[in-house]
Parts: sequence; C-alpha cells; structure tokens
Amino acid sequence: MTSFTNEYPCRAYGATSPTSGVGPMAITRRGLRADDVLIDITHCGICHSDLHTARNDWGRTTYPVVPGHEIVGIVSAVGEAVTRHKVGDRVAIGCMVDACMECSHCDADLEQYCLSGGMTGTYNGIDRRDGSPTYGGYSERIVAREEFVLKVPDRLPMAEAAPLLCAGITTYSPLRTWKVGPGSRVAVAGLGGLGHMGVKLAAAMGAEVTVLSRSEGKRGDAGKLGAHAFLNTSDKAAMKAHRGAFDMVLNTIPVRHDVTPYLHLLKIDGVQVLVGMIDMMPELHTGVLLGRKILTGSGIGGLAETQEMLNFCADHAVVPDIEVIAISEVESAYERMEASDVKYRFVIDMASLAAQ
Ligand code: NAP
Ligand code: ZN
Repeated sequence: MTSFTNEYPCRAYGATSPTSGVGPMAITRRGLRADDVLIDITHCGICHSDLHTARNDWGRTTYPVVPGHEIVGIVSAVGEAVTRHKVGDRVAIGCMVDACMECSHCDADLEQYCLSGGMTGTYNGIDRRDGSPTYGGYSERIVAREEFVLKVPDRLPMAEAAPLLCAGITTYSPLRTWKVGPGSRVAVAGLGGLGHMGVKLAAAMGAEVTVLSRSEGKRGDAGKLGAHAFLNTSDKAAMKAHRGAFDMVLNTIPVRHDVTPYLHLLKIDGVQVLVGMIDMMPELHTGVLLGRKILTGSGIGGLAETQEMLNFCADHAVVPDIEVIAISEVESAYERMEASDVKYRFVIDMASLAAQ
C-alpha cells in the first residue's frame, strides 16, 4: 500500500446520493508517486455519463462521486520517474486513469478493454495500487499515472479540446475501426455531445453523413455541423425510403430503445454501433439481422488512438461546439441535457471553482 504523503487538498463538485444533486465538496488528491503527474484543471466537459453516474442510473455508483472525464489542464508537478510530461505542458485525461498494461488487450493498445479487472475509470473507480476511490474532473486538480495523460496539440484551444476526451474518442474509434472514409455513408443517431462529434469527425474523414434525430429543430444545425442530410426518425415514410442506405449507423441515443428501425437503414454487411445505450435492449427479432446486418457496440478508445484523435482534430480543425459554464451551473446543464437542449457540449470553466 502506498502511504498518503504530501497530499493535495482539492476543491471539487460532486454528488453524495442519487438525489443530492452535484454540489461543492472537498477531496484530497494523493501525493505524487514516482510515475504520477499533477494537473491544474482548466476545463472539464460534461458528458451524459456524468449525469447517469451522479444519479445512479446504472446502479453502480459509489458515493460520494465527483464526475468529469473530459479533462484538460496544465502540468504543475511531476513524480521523479516521469519522462513524458513536464511542468507547464498542456495535457488531458479522458475516461480512464489506469489499466494493467500487461494483458493482450492492453498490449494491443486497447486499454479500455483491459482483461485484468477492466480499465480504472477516471471517476467511480478504484485505484489499482492503494484501493482508494477515483474522483473526476469537476475539481481544481487531479493526479494520474503519466501514460494516461495525453498531450493537447498547440493548435487546439483548451476549452474546445475538453470534449474530445470522451465525446471525440467515443465516436472517432468506431469510425476508424470500421474504416469510414470517402464513399462511406454514415448515419449518426442522436444529435447531442457524442452525436455532433460523430458528424464532424465522419465528415472530416470524407464520409457522406446523415443525422437521425427526433428533434426537428436540429435540422438546420445538422448542416452547419457538416452533415449532408437530416432524417426525422418519427417520419416513418422517410425512414422507409432510406432502408438499405447506410454503411454505418453510429447510435448515441442514451436511453433504452428499439434498435430495429436503425438496422433496417443498413446496407448488407452494414454495421450499427451502439455507444449510447448501456441497458437491457428491448426484444429484438433476429430476422432483421439475417439481411447480414451487424449489431455491435464500442467503448471509448485506447490511449494511442485517443492521442491520434487529438492530433487528427488539430490537423483537420475539428472542434466541438461548446457552451462554457460556471461550475455552479452543472445541475441546470444536466436538466438541459435531459431535455436534449445541448448545443452541443457543456464545458466547465474551472476558474469558476476558485470563485466558490
Ligand atoms: P447527450 O448530449 O444528452 O445526447 C444524446 C442525444 O440522444 C440527444 O441530444 C438526443 O438527440 C438523443 N436522445 C436523447 N434522449 C432520447 C430518447 N429518449 N430517445 C431518442 N433519442 C434521444 O448525450 P451524450 O453525452 O452524447 O451521451 C450519449 C450516450 O453515450 C450516454 O448514454 C452516455 O452515457 C454514452 N456514452 C458512452 C460512451 C462509450 O464509451 N460507449 C462514452 C461516452 C458516453 P436528438 O435530439 O437529436 O434526438
Ligand atoms: Zn463520457
């Protein structure tokens, strides 16, 4: 067990129960281990997973919980063995802060699928070395193992870089895995934080992109974000007219729902990738799959792929549309997120925490 010496007291925002809401709390960051980096957080994005976790929607939240896994900031101290980062560097942390780094999945740069106990989540996780709870980015600083700290390219503004650490990589990874490029027809279901990044990234990769949304009011935005078409999912005739039209449906819808209408939209050997629904699926008649449709899922991305995505976004000037808020506004941001009223990612300016 590592002893807690030279710990860092830290202001944070978190929840103490499913109904407490997210409010101010004091936490302590561990003293630096040899391979640790201390980061002063400048911004943290708000992911729908934060809301799911704060409210225990998935039934596996341990309280108190400090959400936030779209973290960017500046290195303010390093452990004596750190080689990758130095004080003053612009850096980022996504959804994981550790993994075994020895199993075949970690060896393949797929640390998010670590076979040895799974990845350690940035929040609501358990530190692999000392068993302490992990706390996320709604806080003034964070300590993490250097391999799990990514570099923010100079061309990316800090606030805009934050959402890339989850919304960006979670959509980039399946687009790359299924080799989306010029000639691909991609449909993105749900135009929220993940969805709008899916649109921008797929368009930047050269695909023809269609937004599948139940919100008619987003039709105009879809085009501005780079989509070539917009399909209102409640328009049955339009959905029928697009049967067999897409190579991929990237489904970001955050609630339990029937995926059958989206399977019908696929070409033969087309793939529907679920990244939003983490739940029991309503019953599925497998007949629809006999049209050689693939139904799968995808979880964030590995460390190397996350760095590749950050570099891709810098090179292609792909940045999220963000609304910067003070940390005291998190609860109202959650309410707007639940009402699908996000344009298209909330980002907390962490300077607002010091003003609390
Ligand atoms: P978000 O910003 O709230 O966007 C979700 C969008 O889905 C909404 O804007 C809305 O788009 C649509 N939607 C919402 N409720 C719906 C409903 N009842 N029926 C149909 N469509 C609905 O959420 P997000 O941050 O993008 O996260 C999306 C999901 O991905 C969450 O469940 C989150 O936990 C999960 N997630 C997974 C991973 C992973 O690794 N797989 C990583 C991050 C997040 P329209 O208005 O256009 O219909
Ligand atoms: Zn997330």
